[in-house]
Amino acid sequence: MNKTNKLGINTICTHIGEVKDEQFKGAVSPIFMSTSYAFDGVDVKRYPRYFNTPNQEMLCKKIAALEKTENALIFGSGMAAVSTTLLAFLHKGDHIVLQQTLYGGTYNFVVEEFDKFGIEYSFTEGLSIEDFEKKIQDNTKVLYIETPSNPLLTITDMKAISKLATSKNIVTMIDNTFASPINQTPTDFGIDIMIHSATKYMGGHSDILAGAVAASNEHIDKIWNIAKNLGGSLSDFTVWMLERSLKTMNLRVKRQSKNALKMAKYLAKNKAIDCVYYPGLKSHKDYELAKKQMKFFGGMLSFELKEGFDAMEFQNNLELIKSSMSLAGVESTMLSPSQTSHGLLSPEERTKQGIKDGLIRFSVGIEETKDLIADIEQAIAKIKK
Ligand SMILES: *Cc1c(COP(=O)(O)O)cnc(C)c1O
Repeated sequence: MNKTNKLGINTICTHIGEVKDEQFKGAVSPIFMSTSYAFDGVDVKRYPRYFNTPNQEMLCKKIAALEKTENALIFGSGMAAVSTTLLAFLHKGDHIVLQQTLYGGTYNFVVEEFDKFGIEYSFTEGLSIEDFEKKIQDNTKVLYIETPSNPLLTITDMKAISKLATSKNIVTMIDNTFASPINQTPTDFGIDIMIHSATKYMGGHSDILAGAVAASNEHIDKIWNIAKNLGGSLSDFTVWMLERSLKTMNLRVKRQSKNALKMAKYLAKNKAIDCVYYPGLKSHKDYELAKKQMKFFGGMLSFELKEGFDAMEFQNNLELIKSSMSLAGVESTMLSPSQTSHGLLSPEERTKQGIKDGLIRFSVGIEETKDLIADIEQAIAKIKK
């Protein structure tokens, strides 16, 4: 670990956790697709569902190095990582406090499944530390946060959360998907467990579904114990794809973050647009906090079209920027949260969360910003008023 800690980010992305090709000396990791390995003494046998094939085990080293933790596990999806990790730390009679603005799948998992396990849960009213403190009970075992959040890019104070949790012996978990390990290192602020949908920035090309968790050896062992029973491991071919993707993660995400800042500044000046939500803008309510805990401000932003500009018509007019449910690929995409990711919430609940019909979420890619701006300009100009 000590040696790894000294390496620069692009070197970690490229080299840590490579599987050496001893036989042919190839430049990249060979893929071990075997589901069967020789029984070799008393140690845990290698088997894909035990999360310990050569490719799985080695890629975990890269992810742990990126999140500055002792260990990591990779999963078949972000939700496999989320659900397995939550169930590892919550038993019958336990309680969890989750922040109000959460990824929809995580919210659904909690409200649809926890009752049958006898796990109690509370969502915060807001994102201040008092909001979290208010919901803590004697049986609270986990605090769960997501920062920046979807789709308004709110920021939660990681240091304050970890301080609150430590004083009460509570485990802290963060969904670090939106920031990626490039823009934010939660363990530096005392957060215990980092969860990722690797489908997003880690994968980065909109072509693999995967998840990851990074934490101490002790926490990873605990997650592994239930993970092998739930069976949400990732196929070795996709593990290999993910390794390949991670080699360029720093290059991609830095470029996306720079582009997003430029686009946020441009959109803030556009006369057809009411409001831009990007933690890197001084006008964002959490700008100061974001500056303290993020290295760059990420590739995600959202904005509201002025009344009279139809959000669907605007998106249909776009020629370069694609409409897409997912995010974080090298290509720029947009969606209307009220129609998609937050479409199942009642209009009242959406209003409460600040999600208006004209809100558009923008996942900024690696293209030239001048081309993205030109596309937005022509799409606005075409709107029939
Ligand atoms: C996509 C996403 C997930 C779920 O990941 P899957 O890979 O789709 O299972 C969890 N959290 C956040 C923030 C996400 O964007």
